[in-house]
Amino acid sequence: MLTIRDIVQPETLTEAYQILTKQRTNTVLGGCAFLRLGSKRIGIGIDLAKLNLDQITEEDDTIKLGAMTTLRQIETHPLLNESFGGVLPKAVSNIIGVQFRNGVTIGGSVYSKYGFSDPITALLALNAKVDLVKAGRLPLGEFLARPREKDVLTHVIIPKEEQIASYQSLRISASDYPILTAAVAKNGEDWRIVVGARPQVAELAGKASEQLAQAYAHAKLDSFMVAGEKNEVNEVVEGILEQMSQELSFGSNARGSATYRQGIAKVLVRRGIQEVLAWISK
Ligand SMILES: Cc1cc2nc3c(=O)[nH]c(=O)nc-3n(C[C@H](O)[C@H](O)[C@H](O)COP(=O)(O)OP(=O)(O)OC[C@H]3O[C@@H](n4cnc5c(N)ncnc54)[C@H](O)[C@@H]3O)c2cc1C
Repeated sequence: MLTIRDIVQPETLTEAYQILTKQRTNTVLGGCAFLRLGSKRIGIGIDLAKLNLDQITEEDDTIKLGAMTTLRQIETHPLLNESFGGVLPKAVSNIIGVQFRNGVTIGGSVYSKYGFSDPITALLALNAKVDLVKAGRLPLGEFLARPREKDVLTHVIIPKEEQIASYQSLRISASDYPILTAAVAKNGEDWRIVVGARPQVAELAGKASEQLAQAYAHAKLDSFMVAGEKNEVNEVVEGILEQMSQELSFGSNARGSATYRQGIAKVLVRRGIQEVLAWISK
């Protein structure tokens, strides 16, 4: 059973960080959904409720998600539904149920670096960054690759560019953990292919993404399927999918074997590319 000796609501981020680092057992509290599954003995639970971190804000060239923003806010926010092909609302919409998404936070979701994370997969494809009190602003990919360190995540920052993205996942049933997640994004001339729940945390397939950008720039995707022509064979796309499946590692767990995941990754990424191309051709 989770136990919390005391709870504080700091007035500043500096205070929150100081309390967090004062004692090993002091812990930041998000929506507590995951924390409650464990038996951690928390000294001081740090509730960020007084720090205005539950907002989604639009700035000149970014969209900022405060760490205490719930997944339901992300799912229903008009700006996020209009931006990037609605990829973020789509990515969170399969997580358990509405009541659950009303409580869990994007800060807790990103800070935890869960391998199965739906939102991390989509955010990495959108080239998001994270703001932390100690480490400062980091590209999400860099944050995910760093060793775990006590810090307070304050915001997730998404570049507000002309990005189009697609999110795909495979689950045994609608609200289960995903077997695999994938996102494909196009931002100007750049493409990003990201695959998560492998079961490791989401990762960018850098070489495959470059190949995709080259193929698009040289009009080699013109004959590739658009929605409805799913089975059309395109050697260029097959090559890109093969590259992606070779450069990323896949593992086995109770939800699926490495070989199964590797095969499914090709299907999901293919659908992602297809969806982005369909958006562009609209
Ligand atoms: C049964 C169950 C099923 C789930 N299924 C899925 C799924 O299918 N897909 C998916 O993507 N996710 C899934 N999740 C994860 C869920 O969406 C949340 O990501 C998770 O619950 C963490 O969010 P939280 O706000 O509850 O964080 P908490 O449980 O409060 O915190 C989690 C960790 O993050 C730390 N933390 C929280 N906020 C911050 C912050 N701002 N700065 C620094 N550290 C912080 C806490 O100290 C703790 O270590 C599932 C969770 C549960 C419990």
